[in-house]
Amino acid sequence: MTDQSGAERGVAKLGVLKAMAGFLKPYRLQVFGASIALICTAAITLSIGQGLRMLVDQGFSSHANEAALNQALLLFFAMVLLLAAGTFIRFYLVSWIGERVSADLRKAVFAHVVTLHPGFFESQLSGDIQSRITTDTSLLQTVIGSSVSIALRNALMFIGGLIWLFISNPKLTAMVMLSVPLVIVPILVFGRRVRSLSRSSQDKIASVGSFVGEAVKNIKLLQAFNHQTLDRKSFEGHVEVAFDVAIVRIRQRAWLSTTVIVLVLGAVTGMLWVGGHDVLAGRISGGELAAFIFYAVMVAASVGAISEVYGDLQRAAGATERLLELLAAENRILPPAQPVALPQPARGEIAFEDVSFAYASRPDHPAIKGLTLAIPAGSSLALVGSSGAGKSTLIDLLLRFYDVGSGAIRFDGIDIRDLDPQDLRAQIAMVPQQPVLFTGTVADNIRYGRPSASDEELIEAARAAFAEDFIQRLPDGYDSFVGEGGVRLSGGQRQRIAIARAILADPKLLLLDEATSALDAESEYQVQQALERLMEGRTTVVIAHRLATVINVDRIAVLDHGELVASGRHGELLTQSPLYARWASLQFDDANTQAALAAE
Ligand code: ADP
Repeated sequence: MTDQSGAERGVAKLGVLKAMAGFLKPYRLQVFGASIALICTAAITLSIGQGLRMLVDQGFSSHANEAALNQALLLFFAMVLLLAAGTFIRFYLVSWIGERVSADLRKAVFAHVVTLHPGFFESQLSGDIQSRITTDTSLLQTVIGSSVSIALRNALMFIGGLIWLFISNPKLTAMVMLSVPLVIVPILVFGRRVRSLSRSSQDKIASVGSFVGEAVKNIKLLQAFNHQTLDRKSFEGHVEVAFDVAIVRIRQRAWLSTTVIVLVLGAVTGMLWVGGHDVLAGRISGGELAAFIFYAVMVAASVGAISEVYGDLQRAAGATERLLELLAAENRILPPAQPVALPQPARGEIAFEDVSFAYASRPDHPAIKGLTLAIPAGSSLALVGSSGAGKSTLIDLLLRFYDVGSGAIRFDGIDIRDLDPQDLRAQIAMVPQQPVLFTGTVADNIRYGRPSASDEELIEAARAAFAEDFIQRLPDGYDSFVGEGGVRLSGGQRQRIAIARAILADPKLLLLDEATSALDAESEYQVQQALERLMEGRTTVVIAHRLATVINVDRIAVLDHGELVASGRHGELLTQSPLYARWASLQFDDANTQAALAAE
C-alpha cells in the first residue's frame, strides 16, 4: 500500500467501485437474481428463530398435542427446503458472476496490454503484468464470487436479528450488545493473526516452489558441480521454515477455536442464566428465550463473518486498483485520427529525414542524432557499427515502436506517423537475431507470418527458406512440436523457420538482425541462401554481422554513437572510412577481409 491520504484513497475506492459496476453491468439479470436469492435466504434464516420459538412453545409445552408438534415441524421443514433452494440459486449465481467478471477482466486487460507501445514494457516487469492478469483476477473472482455475498448476507442477518432482539426483549438485548464486543474482539485478534500467518506460510511455500523450480531447471549444472547434498540441505532448510510457520499458524488457529467455544458458549450461558430466570418467573416463554438466543448468536456470528471477509474485500480493492492501472495505461503509439492510406501496392521506399531520437529513460543521451538516409524501393542496406551505435534503435523506429524526437521517417513518401501502425507493419517483416518461436508446431510458427495462408503457400515458403528438408525429417513433419521457445530445433533451423515466416508474410520491407553467434558452415550456407531468397525484390535493412552480407548489399551505412558517419559499398568504405575498416577487421578475421578485397 502506498501512503496515500485517506481522501485520495476514498476517491480511488470510488473509482474501483465504479469500474467494477461497469464490469457487472452486462450481467444485471444475474445480479438481480442473486440479490433476490440473497434476501430470501437471509429472511428464511431469520424466520427460523420464529420456527424455533413455535416449536418450543407449542411443541414441547405442557399443553402439547401431536397435531401442533407435527404442524410446527412441517412448517420448519418447508422453510428448510426453501432455504436450500435459495442457497443453491444464490451460490450458483454469485459464483457465476465472480467467474464471469474475472474472465472478462482478464480478457480486457490482455487485449489492452498487447496494444501498448513497447516502451511501456521497459518500466513494467513482465512477471508483474502476468501476476496481475492471473493472481489479481483470481482474487477478484473469489471476492466477487463469495466474500461480497457473505458480507451482504451477514449484514442483512445482523440488521434483521438486531431488530428482532430489540423488539422482543430490550433488557436481554442490552446485555447482548455489551457482550458482543467482549466475544468478538478476541476472535478478531486471533483471526487477524491467523490470516497474516497463513499469508507468510504461503510465501514460504512459494519459496519452496521456486527453489525446486530453479533446481530442476538447472539440473545439469547442479549435478555437474556436485551440488546435490548442498542443495538438499538448503532445500530442507526452506521446508522446515515453512513447517515452523505452519505450526505457529495452527497453534493460533487451535487457540482461536478454543476461544470461540468458551466465549460464545459462555455468553450463551450468561443469557440462559438471565433469560432462564425470566422464564421461571413467567416473564417470557421458553420459546421466546430459545429464539432470543438463536438471534443473539446469529447477530454475533454475522459480525464475525463480516470482519473475516473485510480483509478479503480490502485486498480485492487493491487487486482491482492494480488491474485498472493496467487498463488505464496509455498507448503512446496511436493511429492518427485520419490515417493516410499507403499506395496500392506499396513500393517500400524508405527515407530518414534528419531523425533524432532519445529513449524516455535517457532523454539527454540521444540514441540517434540528425540521421538522414534514403533507401530506394527494392534495394538493400546494411547497418554496421559497434554495439550501442543505434542499429536496433533504427529498426525499432522503422516499425514505429517509438516515435522520433525530431525529423521524420517516410515510407513511400508518407510520414509513418500519418499511417495506421497496423497498415505500416503489415508491409514489414522482421527476422530477429534470436528467432522467436512460440510453443506450438512448425506449421503454427511459419503461419504466424500470415495466419490466412493456405497449406500450399506455407510449404512454398518453407521451401524458399531452405527449411523443407529438415522439416520433413522431423517426426511429425510440419505438425512437429518445436518445444517451449523452439528448444527442439537447432539454431540454424530456428532461423530458417523465422525466414519462412517472413517469406510467407511477403512484406515490402524486410528488417533483419543477423545472428552474431556462429553457425556451422553447412547451416550458415543454408541460412545465407534462404536470406538471399527472402531479400529478392524487397527493400531490406539488415544489421550485418556476416561478411557475405556486407559484400552483397547495395549500400552500407556506418553508424557511430547514433550518427551516420559513412555510407557506400564495402570496397569503397574499406579505403574511405577508417572506422569501417577497423570494424570490418574486428568483425571478420583478416583472411576473410583479404579474400573479399581480392574478390572486388
Ligand atoms: P545497437 O543495436 O547498435 O547495438 P542500440 O540501438 O541497441 O544499439 O542502442 C543505442 C543506444 O541506445 C545505446 O546507447 C543503448 O544503451 C541505448 N538504448 C537501447 N535501448 C534502450 C532502451 N530501451 N532504453 C534506454 N536506452 C536504450
